[in-house]
Amino acid sequence: MKMPKILILLLFILSPAFLEAQELDRNQLINDLKYLSSDELEGRAPLSTGSKKAQAYIKERFSSLGLFSQFDDYTQYFSFGEENKVENAANIVAFVPGQESEKIIVITAHYDHLGVKDGKIYNGTDDNASGTAALLAFAEFFSKNPPKHSMLFAALDAEERGLQGAKALVKDFPFSMDQVLLNINMDMISRNDQNEIYASGTKHYPSLKSILESASRGEKVSLKFGHDLPNTGHDDWTNASDHAAFHAKGIPFVYFGVEDHADYHRHTDTFEKVNQDFYFNTVKLIKRCAVELDANLPL
Ligand SMILES: [Zn+2]
Repeated sequence: MKMPKILILLLFILSPAFLEAQELDRNQLINDLKYLSSDELEGRAPLSTGSKKAQAYIKERFSSLGLFSQFDDYTQYFSFGEENKVENAANIVAFVPGQESEKIIVITAHYDHLGVKDGKIYNGTDDNASGTAALLAFAEFFSKNPPKHSMLFAALDAEERGLQGAKALVKDFPFSMDQVLLNINMDMISRNDQNEIYASGTKHYPSLKSILESASRGEKVSLKFGHDLPNTGHDDWTNASDHAAFHAKGIPFVYFGVEDHADYHRHTDTFEKVNQDFYFNTVKLIKRCAVELDANLPL
């Protein structure tokens, strides 16, 4: 018996391959991670040739998705430092308008790293090509599955120099800061031997916890809470990455990151050390958290 075309189409739409395609593109994610942390980008120190290559790559991905930005050429330039002033550091920013709300969820990941020291390239694969590649995956996902709230995707520069890109974004934000509902920050999300990732910040903003708990149910990577209070025996990560600039303004944040590992801030933080299954599953988990936060936060 010949199968009717409509039935074939229906079977395809219900097939895991199609549903997965609606989700996240694993090959694209891994290729983004690989390129962003390759030797060619020389550790992505602010203003370096490698940094400019990273910027061009992120812009190309935003532009191929047809994304809009409040900034010319997706670029927010900023300077920092008093003596040894650094000028023309660059955040790369894209925007997806909300379907039901003027409120904004800001998704951040820093793309800079430590550059080259003593002739060694600090590739910064986990820190933080991993968050940057996830940011690109989410920009793609939410441009194809429009969120209720607006989403601003910011690949930030000069985090390693004291969260400078995040501070600049918050200082010269393209909307009223009153519209910002939440910051979701990712910094080091590609490897962990215990198959765990932390969502930090719920001690400060407890109403987020139940949303994250239900979003993480049934996921392959386990979501842990903590690292958001001093004197608990765990490091307090409240001011450890770009989310701190939002927290300083009283804006709720969730920071996703793994426990430090032996290659943290060493030239050995390379692509080969990444557990690709863990990374992909973690990005899926964080995406689900972002979807549920968008669905459940007030409009
Ligand atoms: Zn980092």
